Amino acid sequence: MRLSETRKPRRFLASQRRSYAIHMDLRTLLPQLLPHAIAWAEFQSNHVASLGIALPESMIAVARHVGVQRPERIRVKLVDQIPLPEEPTLRQAAIEAGLLGPNILGLTLGYSIFIVHGHDDVRLISHECRHVYQYEVLGSIEKFLPVYLQQIVEYGYDNAPLEVDARNNELHMA
Ligand SMILES: [Zn+2]
Repeated sequence: MRLSETRKPRRFLASQRRSYAIHMDLRTLLPQLLPHAIAWAEFQSNHVASLGIALPESMIAVARHVGVQRPERIRVKLVDQIPLPEEPTLRQAAIEAGLLGPNILGLTLGYSIFIVHGHDDVRLISHECRHVYQYEVLGSIEKFLPVYLQQIVEYGYDNAPLEVDARNNELHMA
């Protein structure tokens, strides 16, 4: 996943701060949310696998460069906004954890990548492809998400080791 670097307007920050009063206890909720998160991720991943487009040759090279073993399996779907779960608790937890919401530009679920229109640049593709590599190493969505979401809960989005690794592997060519 990758966040937009646009600074949020002051008013939004103020309203976010107030929402801390009804902050969800993500650490406690994670075990019960996890099966729902996996089911949602697998559903969305299958959707992109059937409707998405394969990477062009130049981006296959980028995927290989960041370690992906089977880049030909990757499918990308360009969207106006990254989809959100319909289930209210799962949706709210994902937004509070900083995983989903209007500032998110990319989301990788297995070999399936959602990218917001206009942001399909080398940096974002390399970041998301590094997540594909991480899924390959861990083996599946079912094996990746427990590790990834536990990290988000423990370290926060910015410092989660799998996010740090993806950021450290971003390519910055023109
Ligand atoms: Zn990421």
